[in-house]
Amino acid sequence: MKPRSHSRTIFQQAQEILVGGVNSPVRAFKAVGGDPLVVERAQGSRLYDVDGNEYIDFVCSWGAMILGHAHPAVTSAIQDQAARGTSYGMSTELELELARRIQKAMPAMEMVRFVSSGTEATMSAVRVARAFTRRNFIVKFDGGYHGHADGFLSQAGSGLATLGIASSPGVPECFAELTLNAPYNDIASVERLFDAHRGEIAAVIVEPVAANMGVVLPEESFLCNLRELTRKEGALLILDEVITGFRLALGGAQSVYGIHPDLTTLGKIIGGGLPAAAYGGRADVMSLVAPSGPVYQAGTLSGNPLAMRAGIETLKQLEAPGFYEQLNKKAERLISGFRMAVAESGLAAQVSAAGSLLTLFFAKVTPSDYEDAKRSDTQEFGAFFLEMLNRGVFLPPSQFEALFVSAAHSDSDIDRTIEACRESLKAVAGRK
Ligand SMILES: *Cc1c(COP(=O)(O)O)cnc(C)c1O
Repeated sequence: MKPRSHSRTIFQQAQEILVGGVNSPVRAFKAVGGDPLVVERAQGSRLYDVDGNEYIDFVCSWGAMILGHAHPAVTSAIQDQAARGTSYGMSTELELELARRIQKAMPAMEMVRFVSSGTEATMSAVRVARAFTRRNFIVKFDGGYHGHADGFLSQAGSGLATLGIASSPGVPECFAELTLNAPYNDIASVERLFDAHRGEIAAVIVEPVAANMGVVLPEESFLCNLRELTRKEGALLILDEVITGFRLALGGAQSVYGIHPDLTTLGKIIGGGLPAAAYGGRADVMSLVAPSGPVYQAGTLSGNPLAMRAGIETLKQLEAPGFYEQLNKKAERLISGFRMAVAESGLAAQVSAAGSLLTLFFAKVTPSDYEDAKRSDTQEFGAFFLEMLNRGVFLPPSQFEALFVSAAHSDSDIDRTIEACRESLKAVAGRK
């Protein structure tokens, strides 16, 4: 590993002009220390920094790059589209095609609206849910992340957890008050919120597998109970599948867990590495959105043709028979390798995983909610992260993020990663 001196210089200069030197907080490595990566290029499972170092990448642009970087089919579709113009501000047939592919995979998305980020998708889904129910409150779960719209920034996991921020200044209290929080996996506390705000809760929004407090699995029947409860109370269930959609299965977590949500939000994978996201669901709800209905939501670059092409090409690859079996098999190899490495090290750590999503928690028990997750030893995680990085393996630079396996990871990438994990855990254990 070469010293990351060029990376350091660029990051230092960036700090003078870009806030914190980055355009999204977790990239600054605050939780783990060390010099942040400054990337020059990426190919397949590999990321290359400006100092010429190569890393096996398990961030995969936070899950968006499920096929790995610069997949030939996606790259050539983007090149072809770029030559035809990159934005028209008018409709294309590409939007229709991507929407149809999404709907085929997720039949609950009866009607779809494309936007440009997951934040926009969740924000808009909540707006239409409020309009439909004529109610103001929403319920989210501690440690659940749904983008950075005002109403979502309390106990919001992900980057906030990384930085130890409970909620964000700049969000007026009267907005924050409309968001009710419950512990993940705790249906009784959601029932209590419905009792306390009878007829006032528009929607419950949930990550069907939580992935922004590290990976935390839904307990048996938690999602079913949420579905039943929201139906009974006349509130909508919004599944935030920005990470899990096209990740856990072609049909997302809703197909894996057999949940029929009122609304779904998608992002990350559906843009194939370009900015695209979507919300959609019940036709009677979605038809309230302009221009069909009065709920305003618009976007200059929404349904952007480059992003649509990248999304369509990506979904075509995911539709291939056996895609998810193969991906999950790779992930299983990594998961069992990590578990063996943990056992060998004698450290208290747990691998929490769903499909190709996983987190190595430096904790005594596998977390089932945010309180548990926060008990992890983040110092140990930070040391582990840096040991892995120095061995050429790039993990998410926070205890509270998921590691993503892509189709581009080879068996030998996985084996090298497991070996790096054994050595890194040994080094971490040796410091105690
Ligand atoms: C990433 C993410 C978002 C926000 O998406 P952006 O494109 O970053 O705005 C929303 N919900 C979940 C579950 C996410 O993981």
